[in-house]
Amino acid sequence: MTHQPGFLPLSDIERNKLGIRQFDIILVTGDAYVDHPSFGTALIGRVLWDAGFTVGIISQPDWITATDFTVLGKPRLFFGISSGNVDSMVNNFTPNLKRRSDDVYSPGGIPKRPDRATIVYTNRVHELFPDTPIIIGGIEASLRRFSHYDYWQNRVRQSILADAPADLLIFGMGERQVVEIARRLASGETISSLRDIRGTAFGMEITEWFSKRAEGIIELPGFTEVAQDKISYARAFALHYYEQDPVRGRTIAQPHPKTVVIQNPPALPLSTEELDHIYDLPYSRRAHPSYTERVPALEPVQFSVTSHRGCFGACSFCALTHHQGRIIQSRSKASIIREVTKMTLMSEFKGIVQDVGGPTANMYCLSCSLWEKYGACRDKHCSPSCKNLNTSHYCQIDLLKKLREIPGVKKVFIGSGIRYDLSLVDDSGYLEMICDHHVSGHLKVAPEHVIKKVTETMNKPGREIFDRFCERFETLQQGKKKRQYLLPYFISGHPGCSINDMVELAIYIRDHQLYTEQVQDFTPTPMSVSTSMYYTGLNPFTLEPVHVPKGVEKKIQRALMQYRDPDNRRLVIEGLTTVGRTDLIGNGRQFLIPAIDLGTNKYALKHSRTKK
Ligand code: SF4
Repeated sequence: MTHQPGFLPLSDIERNKLGIRQFDIILVTGDAYVDHPSFGTALIGRVLWDAGFTVGIISQPDWITATDFTVLGKPRLFFGISSGNVDSMVNNFTPNLKRRSDDVYSPGGIPKRPDRATIVYTNRVHELFPDTPIIIGGIEASLRRFSHYDYWQNRVRQSILADAPADLLIFGMGERQVVEIARRLASGETISSLRDIRGTAFGMEITEWFSKRAEGIIELPGFTEVAQDKISYARAFALHYYEQDPVRGRTIAQPHPKTVVIQNPPALPLSTEELDHIYDLPYSRRAHPSYTERVPALEPVQFSVTSHRGCFGACSFCALTHHQGRIIQSRSKASIIREVTKMTLMSEFKGIVQDVGGPTANMYCLSCSLWEKYGACRDKHCSPSCKNLNTSHYCQIDLLKKLREIPGVKKVFIGSGIRYDLSLVDDSGYLEMICDHHVSGHLKVAPEHVIKKVTETMNKPGREIFDRFCERFETLQQGKKKRQYLLPYFISGHPGCSINDMVELAIYIRDHQLYTEQVQDFTPTPMSVSTSMYYTGLNPFTLEPVHVPKGVEKKIQRALMQYRDPDNRRLVIEGLTTVGRTDLIGNGRQFLIPAIDLGTNKYALKHSRTKK
């Protein structure tokens, strides 16, 4: 069956209406089913349907009872299980480890996702259908595929493959893998024989590992070792980090007490034609009609377009290198234009394209001449100074111009962040154009910090480049009827950052009169370089010690970034006193906080800062 339904079925009633007796595949997800390509379950479901398989979805099941898991029956080929678009622990808790009261991926924002959703759902399905293959995937499974530090339990956990009774794990973007698995199972291969698929990982019996261990496999320090020894943890992290390239990456093994986790090399990047095909599938861009309440996560993306995948920025705090990788995969302009044209036919569309981007908006169409043959460099970070990197933004300019010309489109915004260092080396007029047409009042940029050793630890461009960008942006504001502002994102509490560094950042914010409502306090999410540093106190690539702010120091760092907030007064004073900078307490613009506590009286606070 290849005809795609308006919505993928969620119930046996919909299954019967489609004339399906048994689904080939059932996907279980912690998200509401939103039929939009930025929701992983919808995208994988549509791709499988396109490949000729029938797919049903079990969305946000009640995991206490069996009812929700059995409602669609038993699939012919396999269950595909994910926590949803985000890791369930990231989703269910704030960075301060308080349980969130809402879930934007759920109708009405009502939380319905269990903690460690992938493990919970997999256990339930395995109990009920012990003979049916289970494939896990999505961000949670992907970024927990090796032994990893878990912030929520403050300990090293085993690979999710050692904790959940899954037959295979798909990591990265999973379209190629999931279709190959479905085709091979449909042709009669057994799940245990599918051990050669790129972009998958699986558990191997320890005895088998010792008898069949092949040459060329990278063996990481095992779970027991990395859980006890931070140097081993850092070494293991660096080893698997280096192998996450689809062209040069090798197979990796990590022994666990009851299994050996084997990760095959990552899936090869999708071609432009393949990506176009995936995004051309008939997503309705709406939540399933059975929901009576809106799904908040749909609103900011309903009329957004993914132009590309991958990011060669490799920021330390982002695990994208382990998921989408550094090689940019771009869609064709024609396919993006088709998608936006389809949006204009929807009754809810008001003429506003909310975003055209990817992990970094201005990497669309950028490429390195070595990627195809050699992959991304192992020991070198991609930067605008590399002669092999094509940094011309001409292709993006042309795309955005064409999107603006589509009848029914009033405005095309760039909502994803841009790499300002790339925009500075571009000579095709990108920044001018986005200021003229694609930014409302604020342009989001992410310098993340301004102190050299901190930006180096984060693998971000330094302050000089950000300053140059600010100057260029200001130049572009001249003569504008309505001026625009930069909305910079900074991170507090990142490994490598001291209270002194945060004081310097606060001074920078003061001197440049920057708006910093959006405070990001570093959260050690699974499998980023920064998380490895947070846990071990070591740079995983050099094994040099890194200062890691924790406890009160982390709170002080966060408060310093929002020193203007009267609620932070006590912590800001504590921080300034700790590093001997009480000279920054006083009345006037040159001080960070007033000498006397003015409470939350905004007028008094403002007045105290205007005194000379
Ligand atoms: S040659 Fe340059 S742009 Fe290409 S992968 Fe290496 S560092 Fe990145």
